[in-house]
Amino acid sequence: MAAWRQQQAHFLIVTYPSQGHVTPARHLARRLVHGGGARVTVCVPVSAFRKMFDMGEVEVDSEVAEDGGGGVAYAAYSDGYDGGFDRAVDDHTRYMAQVRTVGARTVAGVLRRLRDGGRPVTCAVYTLLLPWVADVARDHGVAATAVFWIQPTTALAAYYHYFRGHREAVVAAAASGDPSAEVSLPGLPPLRVRDLPSFLAITSDDDPFAFVLSEFGALIDTLERGGGDPGESPTYVLANTFDAMERDALASLRPHIDVVAVGPVLSFLHDADETKTASSPNDLFDHDGGGYLEWLGTKPARSVVYISFGSSSVMSKNQVAEIAAAMAESKKPFLWVIRKDNCKDEEDNTAIKKLVASAAMDGGDGGMAVEWCDQACVLSHPSVGCFVTHCGWNSTLETVACGVPVVAAPQYSDQGTNAWLVERMGVGVRAAVHGGDGVLEAAELRRCVDAVTSEAVASRAAAWKEEARAAVADGGASERNLNEFVRRFISK
Ligand code: UDP
Repeated sequence: MAAWRQQQAHFLIVTYPSQGHVTPARHLARRLVHGGGARVTVCVPVSAFRKMFDMGEVEVDSEVAEDGGGGVAYAAYSDGYDGGFDRAVDDHTRYMAQVRTVGARTVAGVLRRLRDGGRPVTCAVYTLLLPWVADVARDHGVAATAVFWIQPTTALAAYYHYFRGHREAVVAAAASGDPSAEVSLPGLPPLRVRDLPSFLAITSDDDPFAFVLSEFGALIDTLERGGGDPGESPTYVLANTFDAMERDALASLRPHIDVVAVGPVLSFLHDADETKTASSPNDLFDHDGGGYLEWLGTKPARSVVYISFGSSSVMSKNQVAEIAAAMAESKKPFLWVIRKDNCKDEEDNTAIKKLVASAAMDGGDGGMAVEWCDQACVLSHPSVGCFVTHCGWNSTLETVACGVPVVAAPQYSDQGTNAWLVERMGVGVRAAVHGGDGVLEAAELRRCVDAVTSEAVASRAAAWKEEARAAVADGGASERNLNEFVRRFISK
């Protein structure tokens, strides 16, 4: 038996410094510890580590154990941007180059430190576009690597087939300029251009996200069975999805990629009282202590519209005005996440706050704005009736697992694919947007909110909630898959 198999399984999960990566990484870590009995170290960039643990200065070899006895350790690595990545001035392509060189060096340091401290890593896991982690891990004797795929498997299947013979079909549909133009990809139902990951529709090298496509291409090469050097162990894909939700996409990938459905990976589903214990104090944003849970408690069942566009999307003043008008006219109570950094312009931010406040005054049952909330707690609250979301994958899985109907307002990346899934499952509708800047107008938002707050949508959402929970409950397909995966790394 190889030496690495004789130790307790120890997973190192390496992430980007963004909430949409850190949150699922933390959920996976807790599931591996509590469900699988493994040891886990989550490795985050210095900039994220500093925010999560409220530290001014962070040494690259900083390590902490999670607050609240979660049993997960955290280590910092430098991505070359220890002060954080600023979208207003920093360049994405340069960041990718930096994280590749600086990150490779500093993650190597973490691996060495863990090995020298008697806790060698047995499997290195990374979230999406960090394929260099696999090379560093192999150079340091780590036998296995896995990608934690934190987008829908349908998006991975679309990327796979794009790079394996279907690029021309996708490019032709995208170039038609019609977002409803259909594309046929093996094993998937017909998808319109607007349902595909937006990066696949990039046809110009001048697009600021043009670099993303080549990164995904390189990732697909790594993931394809037999794609690496001969004798190399495979890179597994832990997909944050469950069979019932994306059966066709999983089936279309299985002949080519070692994909294991382990989702929805949401550790709060395993807490005895999820509404009390879902709290995630170590987020990259400061939690709003504004009593929103108490406020929700004063509202009737399924009456509140929850609005959030995630951790990085920004909303124009125009868009905020349309949503505010819709809420004021609908007379429905609303809880709205407007982050401090929603808008760089201080004047616009003040105007935005005023718009939200006046919508709360004009509406029938009032509204509340918060900087950042515990979204799992909000979605688990019985007063919440629907979720107006940008459809980040984490938000999508959370709302499905909580049985909350969706108004989907996707912006980019996989969000259009997530909106398509939501519609296919019958748990929500995708809002139409107008104009070049894609503004969701008040009348359309009201129409969508009315459509999803029907009994029919609520009962489908309730049925999918059960499906999602059954997948990760004891004996569920995803739970079995995860445990089986961990067992590969434990001595028999
Ligand atoms: N989130 C939160 N509080 C908020 C807004 C968002 O906890 O006020 C969490 C949300 O629960 C989700 C994550 O932030 O887990 C956002 O990830 P997602 O993939 O939905 O979108 P992204 O931020 O990556 O665009």
